[in-house]
Amino acid sequence: MPSDTPHTPEAKHHATEAFRHAAESTRRRSPASFDQWFSGIQLDGIDDGVLSLAARDEFVRDWVKNHFLPDLLDAMRGYLGGDPQKALEVRWRISGDIPAPVSEPRRSSPPPSRRPSEAPSAPRPRLAAVPRPGLADALNPKHTFSNFVVGPSNELAYAAALASAAGGRPRYNPLFIAGGTGLGKTHLMHAIAHQVLAERPDTRVVYVSAEHFTNAFIEGLQHHKMDEFRARYRSQCDLLLVDDIQFLAGREQTQEEFFHTFNALHDAARLIVVTSDKYPQQLQRMPERLVSRFGSGLVADIQTPQLETRVAIVRKKAVLEGIELSDEVAVLLAQGVPSNVRELEGALIRLAAKASLTGRPIDFEFVQSEMALVSPRRPDMLSVEDVQRAVCSHFRLSNSELLSKDRHKSVAFARQVAMYVCRQRLKSSFPELGRAFGNRDHTTVMSAVRRVETLRARDPQVNAHLEAIEQKLASSED
Ligand code: ADP
Ligand code: MG
Repeated sequence: MPSDTPHTPEAKHHATEAFRHAAESTRRRSPASFDQWFSGIQLDGIDDGVLSLAARDEFVRDWVKNHFLPDLLDAMRGYLGGDPQKALEVRWRISGDIPAPVSEPRRSSPPPSRRPSEAPSAPRPRLAAVPRPGLADALNPKHTFSNFVVGPSNELAYAAALASAAGGRPRYNPLFIAGGTGLGKTHLMHAIAHQVLAERPDTRVVYVSAEHFTNAFIEGLQHHKMDEFRARYRSQCDLLLVDDIQFLAGREQTQEEFFHTFNALHDAARLIVVTSDKYPQQLQRMPERLVSRFGSGLVADIQTPQLETRVAIVRKKAVLEGIELSDEVAVLLAQGVPSNVRELEGALIRLAAKASLTGRPIDFEFVQSEMALVSPRRPDMLSVEDVQRAVCSHFRLSNSELLSKDRHKSVAFARQVAMYVCRQRLKSSFPELGRAFGNRDHTTVMSAVRRVETLRARDPQVNAHLEAIEQKLASSED
């Protein structure tokens, strides 16, 4: 990007979106602390390879510079392309106009450390000074029900989320939304909050990540403010939304506190919604009494979306971001990023940014060449044999069993999986694959691929097999 100049408003918009995405991916390392510090900076613009940022004060500037900027710049380069050796220049200015944060998550998570020169008793930075918590800017305004694309992979979670936003005595309590990263759990949770606040603005909605809950609890203990902490999460809360509950793993004291929080709300018929990257029973280092409570309401899962849903998501995002996209390109993108909606969205934004920076349309050719460049999985380096080997080792089969005429269920399944992975990763033709799998007919391969695609979207176990195999292939490529 350094050599490119985003002069048009469109290019600026896309460069800004790339910044937002880069920030999102940096944020995932430590959401609570990131939010706290990033609330003190503002993007002025990106022009001529220069990223202009404003900071509320020098303290915030230095913290962001030292802790987040290298990752953020890396991610920006990833989004915008350009010479990786050439550093993006960053210009800072200090602006007293950037308001201190008002959201609860940002307000009370402890600053990750102090300035070296700062004595332990020195006043805390202004970041912690605003007393009134607000929910609005903890929520992404785009994460609404209407912006959520519903398909077979997420319809139960969507319906349950929608029902839980309806108010009244909860039918299921808690609602536990389980699913892999980047599949829309946080989106649905924000959507619940938006809907409830729009329809019943007086509802006391508390949205919190489990990481923030932990930090706030520790802070409450340290500063003897447990009454305040408990009031916030128990008596002053009508709806509690806790994101990424797996973060509580092994944190026994916080688990204990959360257990009592849960019971207090549950007894008062107040709804609790929890998201997690695992099903309750799979949560590690989580006490049984919490696990059983998590499973006592409704557990709704989100699976990897099927191709049709992914195409619909790409289309929706393109409309939301004002990106023009042909159907053909939407399908190509959706095919290229199969298992994570966040990455799919990231790929779209990156393409839009690069297209407008270089003044190209986002057409089939451009997307195809870009996808080949950025694909983390370099499909051309793999062969059918690599895939067969990985599948055999995963299912503990020999290669001759895999290629044999054996129709035993487990062997047949492994074979279908291998065909599916070959098709996904190598884009080989069906007849070609038929030949590579013991001279089978191409229609056999076609139906195997279709079957596994359907199973993957419906059955978490099948998905887990595929993820393990993909992992294996990824590590064998390094
Ligand atoms: P998770 O919390 O499960 O890791 P997120 O809710 O943060 O994932 O979703 C990642 C990104 O993908 C978000 O930008 C979200 O809007 C988008 N996304 C995921 N699923 C959908 C969907 N079904 N429709 C529209 N956008 C989606
Ligand atoms: Mg999330």
